[in-house]
Amino acid sequence: MSDFNTYGFSKELLRGIEELGFEKPTPIQEKAIPYLMESTSDLTGQAQTGTGKTAAFGLPIIQKSDLESKKVQTLILCPTRELCIQLSKDLQNFSKYIKGFKVVPIYGGASIDTQLRELRKKPQVVVGTPGRTLDMIKRRKLIINDVKWLVLDEADEMLSMGFKDELDGILENTPEDKQTLLFSATMPHEIKRIIGTYMHEPFEIKVGKVNKGADNVEHYFYMVNARDRFEALKRIADANPNIYGIVFCRTRAETKDVAEKLIEQKYNADALHGDMSQFMRDQVMNRFRTKHLQILVATDVAARGLDVDDLTHIINYNLPDSLDIYIHRSGRTGRAGKKGVSVTIVHSREQHKIRLLEKKVGKKIERRMVPGGNEICEKQLYKLIDKIGNVEVDEDMIAKYLPTIYEKFESLSKEELIKHFVSIEFNYFLDKYKKARDLNTIKSSGGRDRGRDRGRGRDGGRDRGRDGGRDRGRDGGRDRGRDGGKNFQNRDGVDFAQVRIDVGSSGGMRPAMVLELINTQLKKKNVEIGRIDIRRDHTKVEIDKKYEKELLSALKNADFKGGSSRQSDSSNRKRSNIEYDRDKPKRKKRRSTRKKIIQD
Ligand code: ADP
Ligand code: MG
Repeated sequence: MSDFNTYGFSKELLRGIEELGFEKPTPIQEKAIPYLMESTSDLTGQAQTGTGKTAAFGLPIIQKSDLESKKVQTLILCPTRELCIQLSKDLQNFSKYIKGFKVVPIYGGASIDTQLRELRKKPQVVVGTPGRTLDMIKRRKLIINDVKWLVLDEADEMLSMGFKDELDGILENTPEDKQTLLFSATMPHEIKRIIGTYMHEPFEIKVGKVNKGADNVEHYFYMVNARDRFEALKRIADANPNIYGIVFCRTRAETKDVAEKLIEQKYNADALHGDMSQFMRDQVMNRFRTKHLQILVATDVAARGLDVDDLTHIINYNLPDSLDIYIHRSGRTGRAGKKGVSVTIVHSREQHKIRLLEKKVGKKIERRMVPGGNEICEKQLYKLIDKIGNVEVDEDMIAKYLPTIYEKFESLSKEELIKHFVSIEFNYFLDKYKKARDLNTIKSSGGRDRGRDRGRGRDGGRDRGRDGGRDRGRDGGRDRGRDGGKNFQNRDGVDFAQVRIDVGSSGGMRPAMVLELINTQLKKKNVEIGRIDIRRDHTKVEIDKKYEKELLSALKNADFKGGSSRQSDSSNRKRSNIEYDRDKPKRKKRRSTRKKIIQD
């Protein structure tokens, strides 16, 4: 068994490695490190993502760098800003205890002045994206005439992103006698050309099942009509309440669209794509890395640099254009020995492509049925039960309310009480999937969208206003006394008035929508709300009496008709759609309102 001690690394470097918890080299490290420690000839390394390529080239380079020299000794090129930052961080971590070792990342979309300042500090290693790197070279701020190592990381991606000219421009400026290292998960024709042009008979390392899906990744697909893609995605998310995954889309526009719809329907999701500002991208990536975000909807390029180990799901919203992309994507799950799932939503005419994909992945890719209502409700129920079992109780804070609460629940047995508590959230899913139709297409060779009209308008696109209770600051169980009249008072002395909204469950009204509606219609936020009572054709909500008038008139202006006038069901539905579109919920979750839900 080899470990990092056998390579001749310095104490300081070993300490950095140890601190990262690396115990034994990965296969590519086992092959590349000894070679790079000994040889100054070129090398190509092919291994899928997540196999530890950075340390494979980074450790020997750090070890062999000259700390006395004031010149840039290593230039590492990589395709994206995110990857650039990540690579630099990794190298900084490895070299944490090596005094005087400096790594500087340079990439587009960030202040050039800051980067110039950093470059003046004489780093041994510069990690750059091709565009910014060439720019710095042209400005003569980055001198690479003396580099000893040139690393092309994720070379295939740099080419497919159109950095060919930049690469040529940069490589022209490097000395002949450097050692060039090229890493890539795939070796398409273009890469071979680059190798032929810029490298001298490189030593080739291929690791493991190159180009194959990792062993611990399960692959399967769902087959639905193209127009049901989004609905299928929601079912996947609902059937996997603890999902932590990336949904890959083909284009920025699709990414935006899917993310917006998910957010609108209160999924814990967000987008990552090239049209977003760097700041926004950083924010989203941070939330995702720290697991505050469960579902990241992304383009391949934007997600490229994101290194997250324990993703549960990769969801291919479409089959990607190239099978290599599929391999890249699915390689992001099942890392570090963990199990992962790669699912693809395909439509009936794409089934033959699955067969091609199976060859590429080297595994059978089975069709699964899109989960139906029963399955989803069951999963959600167990999630809820786990959540209740694991919740932290703040004994001090809750103590003073307990006597009253116990008193209120006196008449309920333990079994009944459990049923009631669980139903508060479970009813949402029961209701949502009560009429859920089967999204699975019948295998049809003709490719006609059979069942096109089946179930139209039943639940497609109508279940807005979801409140699965995810990550939401909850404060249920604080029901205030009511006396059956129109105005009543809670214990804190708030006078409630009851307002009627002429849209009910048949018009798509959900408790979350009522809250959203009130929050968006009233100027003041966090207005006290009492009971919400959603009936089939109308909804009654209790609201702090001070805001009754404002709400009524807002509802009138919003065409929502508060008060007591009546409308037919069909027009309600239409109105509720219009209304909801107009007042799209803000991205930020509001964590204000208390509520008690009474089901029909
Ligand atoms: P690649 O560039 O091949 O996609 P990375 O170099 O980014 O992979 O490494 C993927 C992950 O594996 C990183 O989180 C890294 O810290 C971790 N890693 C790398 N080498 C080892 C090792 N020898 N032991 C444990 N974890 C490692
Ligand atoms: Mg890498």
